[in-house]
Amino acid sequence: MNVLPQNLLFTPQPWQLEANKLTAGQSMLEETLFALANGYLGTRGTMEEGAVADHQSCEGTYLNGVYHSEKITYGEVAYGYASHNQKMQQVPNGKVLKLKLDDQTINLADAMEATRWLDFRTATLHRQMRWQSGSGRQLSVNTSRFASLTHPNLLCLRMEILAENFSGDIELSALLDAGYRFSPNKDDPRVGVLSLDDSLALYQQHAGDSDAWMLHQVKDGEFKIASVSILNSTVAPRHISQITHEKQVGQHWLLPLKQGESVIVEKYICYQHSKELTFETLLDEAQQKVQEAKRSGWDALHSQHQQAADAFWQNADVQIDGDPALQQGIRFNLLHLFMSIGKDGHSNMGAKGLTGHGYDGHYFWDTEIYILSVMTATNPELAKRCLEYRYRTLEGARQRARQMSHSQGALYPWRTIGGDECSAFFPAGTAQYHINAAIAHALRSYYAATADWQFMQEMGAEMLFETARLWLSLGHFNARRDGQFCIDGVTGPDEYTAIVSNNFYTNAMAKAHLQFAVQMAAKFRHQDLTAYEQLCVRLSLTESEISIWEQAAEKMYLPFDETLRIHAQDDSFLDKQPWDFANTPPDKYPLLLHFHPLVIYRHQVLKQADVVLAMYLLDDTFDQAQKARNLAYYEPLTTHDSTLSSCIHSIEFAETGDYQRAYEFFHDTVRMDIDNRHGNTEYGVHTACMAGSWMSIVHGFAGVRMRPDGLTVNPHLPDHWQGYTFNLQYQGRQIQIKVSKDKVSYLLKDGESLSLQQGTQQVHLNKGQWLNVSWGNL
Ligand code: BGC
Repeated sequence: MNVLPQNLLFTPQPWQLEANKLTAGQSMLEETLFALANGYLGTRGTMEEGAVADHQSCEGTYLNGVYHSEKITYGEVAYGYASHNQKMQQVPNGKVLKLKLDDQTINLADAMEATRWLDFRTATLHRQMRWQSGSGRQLSVNTSRFASLTHPNLLCLRMEILAENFSGDIELSALLDAGYRFSPNKDDPRVGVLSLDDSLALYQQHAGDSDAWMLHQVKDGEFKIASVSILNSTVAPRHISQITHEKQVGQHWLLPLKQGESVIVEKYICYQHSKELTFETLLDEAQQKVQEAKRSGWDALHSQHQQAADAFWQNADVQIDGDPALQQGIRFNLLHLFMSIGKDGHSNMGAKGLTGHGYDGHYFWDTEIYILSVMTATNPELAKRCLEYRYRTLEGARQRARQMSHSQGALYPWRTIGGDECSAFFPAGTAQYHINAAIAHALRSYYAATADWQFMQEMGAEMLFETARLWLSLGHFNARRDGQFCIDGVTGPDEYTAIVSNNFYTNAMAKAHLQFAVQMAAKFRHQDLTAYEQLCVRLSLTESEISIWEQAAEKMYLPFDETLRIHAQDDSFLDKQPWDFANTPPDKYPLLLHFHPLVIYRHQVLKQADVVLAMYLLDDTFDQAQKARNLAYYEPLTTHDSTLSSCIHSIEFAETGDYQRAYEFFHDTVRMDIDNRHGNTEYGVHTACMAGSWMSIVHGFAGVRMRPDGLTVNPHLPDHWQGYTFNLQYQGRQIQIKVSKDKVSYLLKDGESLSLQQGTQQVHLNKGQWLNVSWGNL
């Protein structure tokens, strides 16, 4: 029996998230949830008419991979501290389409009726609204918008205006707005502060009868940005004037309305950036793109966009039969992951996607451990693009390693956009060396799931070797510990414990990293000796260095407490005083906002899964009993103050057979953002947690693992679900798996025949045929 009481902010619907008129205190949350993105541009779900009086708002349109640098000011600086922060770049807001009738601005707050909904299937945001002026003139206004999944520079808006009981003119102001207000700064390190004014210098701007543009130079950066809009309508405007204010350009149109007849206005906005192109060329290209968009028209553009969304759902959809709230949650999460993930090999995935400015838009290990788990198994091309991004920033990681006194190898930044370390708090930043192991883990998973040798040869191996050799420079064979390989002065995933010796997670992941690097070196040597030797020469990598990796992996010290028979989180953790949970009231969570880090560090208390995460990622290394003991010890000490935590616990409880707890943690994960469970979704969704909801189903309940020696499935069905269905891509095959009460059904939709392991049974799949395998544990 695992149905939980539900406290839902939105009505469950399988393919959409819907809100009506504004709910007090919920406006910024809805702006995040209704955000749209396509991997390059993201824009919050604010209204075309702008902020509504008395409701908080945080406007934002962002470009992924584009950033400005700000010097970090420290009270006391020390050698090697990150010097600059790279902040995700905001650009002018092109969504503005303000309507005025009888001198009143038409807005959501005064609407007679209003519905807004995000359609998951088509990645499109819609609004329908009926409105009445003071003199009784009634209108209905329907708007739709999407960030094109096929033309990454394009944001498309459409507004249909219907005069219900009058004929006459309506005023329309269409703007590109570079003066918008945003970023209410809370005293919360997770929120971040972005400023358009401080980051963009206007080069030139223009407004014509239907087009408008702004050219900006990013301050303290090399990027130039063009923002161009074009307006089109089904009736000729009766009057046009141009708007050219200091920070706004656009048009003011008078549109003649006839009772009972719709007028449609379309607006296409193109954002484009470059380091190399001149402003003139950049503008020229962007203008061509909006002109082309206008020629193609809404229907054609939307249908292309929809096809891209359909293709995504074909590969990634998860169906839950028997729980509409969870169904809505998982699809909402998958959609946002797909919309926000960088797709060009030059950008990645921010912890908040492209939905808000939380964490300044930075990329973390969240990508490799969480987001790429989903993408590797559903859209491996996108996983590859994110790994390519890491490859493109490898040189920066090498330089950072030198700065950190490592004579060889590469150290990836804890948080970044352009590749430089941006963490101003090194105990929970640079000290998280496990970022290197996360990248190696993603390479290992990607290779196991795709067998993409070409990628490994061209980029993967170099990243893998350069990150692997860093462990040897960081750790040492410790004579006082019987020559075991120890790593000092690092922070593991749990940020409530910092700068320790032998963080179990870090050591265990480093071991797996080194082992994989050794295997890959052997494979590379065997497959293509010439290319391998060339790489070794380029990296000054010798066979003796590789054999030291092997020794370090073999002799890796993994702290274990013989009395408790658990893995110690690090050398000192188990000696510390446990946190006094009984006397910590609910309003003191998250602890990071109420206690000095030192107070937290002195106690046995975890922010998120640490040892437990290693149990999951290295799952074939530890037996069930060991996993269960670690879980039983650490979970009660875990606050889950990080949204990265609950999904890992869900998976590990499922793996060790406590399905009720697995279900509870899954429940916390899957509607984390929709129901704003951590109270900060206003500043952006939590993409790692969103990915974690998929992981909880596929890796947790269904027990799927993609290993070098094959695919395994160990399904469980939560009690009150009728069934669930998910899709996987595995080594060039598309597979659909449906778990129901009495059987598991497999369909190999595409690709070569395959044998997989379900529990202890071998299952053989042939293309196009459903195969039902009964199972006995219900
Ligand atoms: C977590 C980190 C995570 C970051 C961004 C922090 O709260 O502790 O593990 O990388 O958020 O999501």
